[in-house]
Amino acid sequence: MSERVGTQGLFFNEPLLWERGSRGRSGMSLPRADVEPAPVDEDLVGNGPDIPDLSEPEVVRHYTRLSQWNFGIDSNMYPLGSCTMKYNPKTNEKQAARPGFAGAHPLLPSELSRGALQLMAELEQYLAEITGLDAATLQPAAGAQGELTGMLIMHAWFKHHDDRRSKIIVPDTAHGTNPASAALCGYRAVPAASGPDGILETAVIDRLMDDETAGIMITNPNTLGFFEENIKAIAQIVHRHGGLVYCDGANMNALMGIVDLAAAGVDILHLNLHKTFSTPHGGGGPGSGPVLVRKKLEPFLPVPRVVPDGKGWRLSDDFPLSIGKIHAFQGNFGVMVKAYSYIRSMGADLKRASQLAVLNANYLKERLKGVLHLPYDRPCMHECVFTDALQQPYGITTLDMAKRLMDYGFHPPTVYFPLVVKDALMMEPTETESRDDIDRFVEALEAVAKEAVESPELLREAPHVCKTERLDETEAARNPRLTG
Ligand SMILES: *Cc1c(COP(=O)(O)O)cnc(C)c1O
Repeated sequence: MSERVGTQGLFFNEPLLWERGSRGRSGMSLPRADVEPAPVDEDLVGNGPDIPDLSEPEVVRHYTRLSQWNFGIDSNMYPLGSCTMKYNPKTNEKQAARPGFAGAHPLLPSELSRGALQLMAELEQYLAEITGLDAATLQPAAGAQGELTGMLIMHAWFKHHDDRRSKIIVPDTAHGTNPASAALCGYRAVPAASGPDGILETAVIDRLMDDETAGIMITNPNTLGFFEENIKAIAQIVHRHGGLVYCDGANMNALMGIVDLAAAGVDILHLNLHKTFSTPHGGGGPGSGPVLVRKKLEPFLPVPRVVPDGKGWRLSDDFPLSIGKIHAFQGNFGVMVKAYSYIRSMGADLKRASQLAVLNANYLKERLKGVLHLPYDRPCMHECVFTDALQQPYGITTLDMAKRLMDYGFHPPTVYFPLVVKDALMMEPTETESRDDIDRFVEALEAVAKEAVESPELLREAPHVCKTERLDETEAARNPRLTG
């Protein structure tokens, strides 16, 4: 235990500031008053605001300790599959914090926000170049909202052509938000089962696709971490019936600069800037889920759009076929600045980042094979999926192993997702982990697997050295106790 990465021994119990304060303490020194004190109107201020009296070190330590309870990608590896929790270079945060960007008001007229508009226009072009598509909107605030935007565009396209379609094909390896987004646009999701290799078979789509079906929502790489190798043939079938191909590209971290999705037959695509492009997923802040389309669908993109004018760029609402607004103003601009800065600083190395992400995931998969059960034993993209089948004979579940990993200082992988794999543990190391760190993670999982055999009760009660013991997750979600 002495060599492990964990954090035991440094947890402080942290009372609320109100419980800690003591009357008369102060965190600052005011200069001596050089005027006579004047009486305060008691009716106006009463007893003053309910703020505890604390010294400066008390305040500094309080917040520093609270920050240490947090686990983030700056603390250690965060192999949460489907989320791309990679290290995000600090320079991109710095660019987003520049006063010209951070202080820009979204209602500034175009003449006074040319730089911000140029950044947005160029980011749209870069994303188009990275994916192979033609035009983009940066408005949606999340991946799921990007899907909704894409579905609205699809719906508007068919309406414009007086073509009413009621269904959409959604494979069992699609992200769970996909059928929900389709349903919000009135489409009925028709499930398509993936084949024995974990990818879609052309014949299945051939059977399901008809002239009543608007198209397909295909997650690529899919939620098993596999590239949909038949996407081109599938797109041809969908197009033959007049349908459109939507691609959920939230996991573009595997494909940057490598796959031309337009050439693969994709008509509409969303990306998650808050996964691939230098904002953490679920980082507590805003996100951005741009949508990219082929030329023929460009007129339907949300307004306002950034368009060129003689002197630079301006915003325009002059797109009569547009689906309208999806988000207040232009979307979450700070996330765009980080993505822009990331793309500019990486340049052609984006491709290498994707190659390394895929290499790291395959390395992890090969090293863990046998420690955990690997349901699909074949090359993966950016993530790999295991199950607890080898540990179940000892009464140990996916959840037990995830909780125990926290004792070893690692954020647990994604658990019980994707739904196509029972009791899944889904791991995404990303390109920013070194081989040493991946090896340490593997060693931690090897130790956990050994404990599953030798001392399963240790796992069933894990975590042991975290801030809290195992929570009743339902109770914690329904009746959270927020005061310590
Ligand atoms: C993360 C993810 C989404 C949803 O993105 P949010 O920003 O969380 O709404 C959709 N599809 C896939 C494949 C994802 O991995």
